[in-house]
Amino acid sequence: LKVIESVEPRIAAATRQELADQRGSLKLIASENYASPAVLLTMGTWFSDKYAEGTVGHRFYAACQNVDTVEALAAEHARELFGAPYAYVQPHSGIDANLVAFWSILANRIETPALKKLGAKNVNELTEADWESLRHEFGNQRLLGMSLDAGGHLTHGFRPNISGKMFHQQQYGTDPETGLLDYDQVAAKAREFKPLVLVAGYSAYPRRVNFAKMREIADEVGAVLMVDMAHFAGLVAGKVFSGDEDPVPHAHITTTTTHKSLRGPRGGMVLAQEEFAADVDRGCPMVLGGPLSHMMAAKAVAFAEARRPEFQTYAQAIADNAQSLAEGFLKRDARLVTGGTDNHIVLLDVSGFGLTGRQAESALLDAGVVTNRNSIPSDPNGAWYTSGVRLGTPALTTRGFGHEEFDRVAELMIEVLSNTQPGTTKAGEPSKASYVLADGVAERVQAGADELLD
Ligand code: PLP
Repeated sequence: LKVIESVEPRIAAATRQELADQRGSLKLIASENYASPAVLLTMGTWFSDKYAEGTVGHRFYAACQNVDTVEALAAEHARELFGAPYAYVQPHSGIDANLVAFWSILANRIETPALKKLGAKNVNELTEADWESLRHEFGNQRLLGMSLDAGGHLTHGFRPNISGKMFHQQQYGTDPETGLLDYDQVAAKAREFKPLVLVAGYSAYPRRVNFAKMREIADEVGAVLMVDMAHFAGLVAGKVFSGDEDPVPHAHITTTTTHKSLRGPRGGMVLAQEEFAADVDRGCPMVLGGPLSHMMAAKAVAFAEARRPEFQTYAQAIADNAQSLAEGFLKRDARLVTGGTDNHIVLLDVSGFGLTGRQAESALLDAGVVTNRNSIPSDPNGAWYTSGVRLGTPALTTRGFGHEEFDRVAELMIEVLSNTQPGTTKAGEPSKASYVLADGVAERVQAGADELLD
């Protein structure tokens, strides 16, 4: 930091403050974690200065021998960790990984058969007319994914996202009574819509998914099953999810981020069955430019960590702690979407406290509890104000929290929420954003958090 300080002291100061903030608060954002010093240090090396477009042993730049070592090792660790036939470690983020997956599916199912029919080796050999017709075909495919308010991700066919624009899209949801994934509804929609891509996976669904069932549905309608395990990759790596709950053997293509429950550097990855390996391998130039070699190195370090037996203990603790957190709320009469959890997420419905998710998130933050507001199924407050708060256990589990600590976290959160009133606008109208937290509560809860974090 001293070196950074000599160039731009404000960045050094913000970095110091970020460390203090992250250490001094209860980090319950379900998509966040604390990467190890080994991972953090690997991100800051001179691999950052190297260009390496292409793939291992086949680069468009010279002097990539060390990047080759790094990329090959990261991919090997990933294949071993997840039992996947093929791993592509170049995507810079989860969204990049999903884009690579979409275009690999289009390449495999649309482009290659079209080229074969036209007797061309690649798209550069096509006439203008054939190219136009192929471009039309790309834009005419269908995708079925989980809706955002049921817990899906933007890239699963949400209309404002590129995934909702490059595909004709439809969405499946959850059962309005139970909040649980309704496989019959998914199957019925798939039969009617006949998607090319069926997307499974979630950002805010507190339950496990039966990926064998999702594959059956995909097979019945001739769809490619793509699973986005960004959120729960750590639970897959740690063998908490196995059999039907492990997406990797069931999906044609599995995508993930590397920085959530998996506890690696920020980044993405694509795992694939052999059938799709060559297509995914063309991520650059299809979708990506130069890989972030320093981040691939950090992925390799994180995957090596996740292959150690301790990681399985950590992953099991993430799931056990989510149970403890959920029980802590239920015994204090709070409402949880689906009535509980069996992964790392707890989705708290704050409407029972008379609050929007936005008010709850802000009041909790005042007391040192970092969460993020999240819509709940059929949310009357929409995606901005919401009626829920999403919580996750990966980060505080890294800090060594167990059953008792998570029960206390639930208690502290209830203390904040039950002492918060909705506020009004300047004109005295009811507001969905402003709130009044009773005097002394923030200080009391922050002191409770400090004790836990000590
Ligand atoms: N997929 C899922 C299921 C996610 O939850 C997220 C991030 O929240 C992403 C993809 C996108 O990851 P990134 O922010 O790295 O692009």
